[in-house]
Amino acid sequence: MPELPEVESLTHFLRERAVGRTVLGVDVVAIQALKTFDPPVTALGGLTITAVARHGKFLDLDCDGLHLVIHLARAGWLRWRDDLSGAKPVRPGKSPLAVRVRLAPDEEGLAPGFELTEAGTQKRLAVYVTKNPDEVPGIAALGPDPLDESFTVEALKRIVGGNRIQIKGLLRDQKIVAGIGNAYSDEVLHAAKMSPFKIAATLTDAQIADLHEAIVTTLQEAVERAHGLAAKDLKAEKKSGLRVHNRAGQPCDVCGDTIREVSFADSSLQYCPTCQTGGKPLADRRLSRLLK
Ligand SMILES: [Zn+2]
Repeated sequence: MPELPEVESLTHFLRERAVGRTVLGVDVVAIQALKTFDPPVTALGGLTITAVARHGKFLDLDCDGLHLVIHLARAGWLRWRDDLSGAKPVRPGKSPLAVRVRLAPDEEGLAPGFELTEAGTQKRLAVYVTKNPDEVPGIAALGPDPLDESFTVEALKRIVGGNRIQIKGLLRDQKIVAGIGNAYSDEVLHAAKMSPFKIAATLTDAQIADLHEAIVTTLQEAVERAHGLAAKDLKAEKKSGLRVHNRAGQPCDVCGDTIREVSFADSSLQYCPTCQTGGKPLADRRLSRLLK
């Protein structure tokens, strides 16, 4: 799933390639991906892309004041195409292609564009056409962005204070902090040497400062690694940069202990017992509930 660093990189990527270009048309192949009906998606035709922004994990293309907002969800991706002039129309249900954005041809006659694809059977990729991106429900509810200047240690202290939820859940909640998902929350907690099950409100001031440092550093490093990469190379870069996420059974590159996995909410999380939980493996609550 693309999280803040990947979406940030896609934002840069599209800024360089798409800004200044005119939208020829937007083809919605997977009809359930389109979450708005007014203005219609056809209204984007003929407009020029003037800016590209990121809100949490949302991409926002400003087309002369009308916005095409994209949320790639868990299995969605963006694929840049240098020339779509020969691309055939796609029938729904036959391919992972959800949306195709065609741009006007340049002087060389190439008509570039990009495609949004979504793998798997659970279709969650979402696009919105709106005059005001703040009206997209997921954007309206976003918590502070960890790369924003306003995300200080004090700001994190206010977020954490009194919050009786586990720190792993807090980091993943877009309403609390924007842009962090399952992968980078594992990475942040490993960098902060903190148990994912720790209750947020129990963190000391020093631990909050450590957590803040881990959040900002982990995301900034991932953004820097991804910077300048083509959209197609981002997935591999994300995977190779992860230290614990999806690496259960492999050695921790900090201490050499074996990275473990435990179920959490609708998926699972990975962590290093030596670095994060005093050497003790976390109990799998889902499993122990079943055994009772
Ligand atoms: Zn370790």
